[in-house]
Amino acid sequence: MKYKGSCLCGEITFEIEGEFESFYLCHCERCQKDTGSAHAANLFSSKAKLKWLSGKNKVKTFNFDGHIKSFCPNCGSALPNFQFDGKLLVVPAGSLDSDIYLRPQGHIYFANKANWDKELEKVPQFDQLPKDE
Ligand SMILES: [Zn+2]
Ligand SMILES: [Zn+2]
Repeated sequence: MKYKGSCLCGEITFEIEGEFESFYLCHCERCQKDTGSAHAANLFSSKAKLKWLSGKNKVKTFNFDGHIKSFCPNCGSALPNFQFDGKLLVVPAGSLDSDIYLRPQGHIYFANKANWDKELEKVPQFDQLPKDE
């Protein structure tokens, strides 16, 4: 399986060859800060290969006490990185442009979730910005 990915501004592009072993939605406080959202959505693989197609030398990696995030310094988008001494490839699901056939396997660190992060599937859904009636 081959996956393509890129940052929002398009300066950094990459390709991943191989399979993901897991897919988790992490609600821990660090992931809330990291993403600015309710949870991170990361795919993990111990075997897949990451190939930067463009912008490799621009990728910045931030490590706060073991919480690692790679990103594009131009647009701030999350990018893949290797963790656990390079043994585990971690790919933010939103960085991929290819479809993902794996379903998330779980919400993790659910006890640490934001106080507004509950029953979100019951919140009204709009295909665009809601219009003022
Ligand atoms: Zn970018
Ligand atoms: Zn987390």
